[in-house]
Amino acid sequence: MKILISNDDGIGAPGIKVLEEVAIQFTDDVVVVAPDSNMSGAGHSLTLKSPLRLVEHDERHFSVSGTPTDSVVMALRHIVSEKPDFVLSGINFDSNLAEDITYSGTVAAAMEACLLGIPSIAFSQKMRHDGGITWDIAQKFAPIILTTIMQSFSFQKGILLNVNFPSGNVEDVRGIKITRQGVRAIEDHVIQSVDPRGDPYFWIGPADYRKNENHIDMETDLGAVHNGYVSITPISLDMTAMGSIQTLKDLFNE
Ligand code: MN
Repeated sequence: MKILISNDDGIGAPGIKVLEEVAIQFTDDVVVVAPDSNMSGAGHSLTLKSPLRLVEHDERHFSVSGTPTDSVVMALRHIVSEKPDFVLSGINFDSNLAEDITYSGTVAAAMEACLLGIPSIAFSQKMRHDGGITWDIAQKFAPIILTTIMQSFSFQKGILLNVNFPSGNVEDVRGIKITRQGVRAIEDHVIQSVDPRGDPYFWIGPADYRKNENHIDMETDLGAVHNGYVSITPISLDMTAMGSIQTLKDLFNE
């Protein structure tokens, strides 16, 4: 079995090493291809206006001067000779819940693999309240999830899995929940300041959503992770809102 690993936090991030250690429990044939720097928030972007540089750290570790999507494309088109059986992305530093998945490079790397017909899973670890992160929950539950998925789940076309691990003590994890994507009200923060030359600059800060997260509905990724469950959300690349098709057809007399 062949596994390709990528992420958006960069090849030097601790989470990708945790994921590689998990993958090696299943096969010797693990290749890591990831951005050379932190590309969190890159979403599903491709680098089109500049060349990509590839660095071979050793025969199984490569970094790309681009996005997570660039890394997966480079891996599949240039680095690995045979299609991997799975592409795993992460483990991201902090969760990718609700609308996070539209910004997330971690999920996008899995999306790219999914587009190319490869079963793919994105993994993210919620950070602690003090801003730190611990990996023992992921180290325990990622192999459990992968064992079941590899043995018994067949990925439909255009479907990938988004896995989020809660923070806290590993012994307090309440189990694994299959969830749907949650919704939270976000207020993006744009911070304005002045650079040393006196010119204004702007910086998008962390969204102020933690106070009003929808924690109640345990069937959502938000609710499950907040309440101490590992969340697995099947994500569809087909984003068509089927419920609006007929309404629009009626409006346009189709
Ligand atoms: Mn990230």
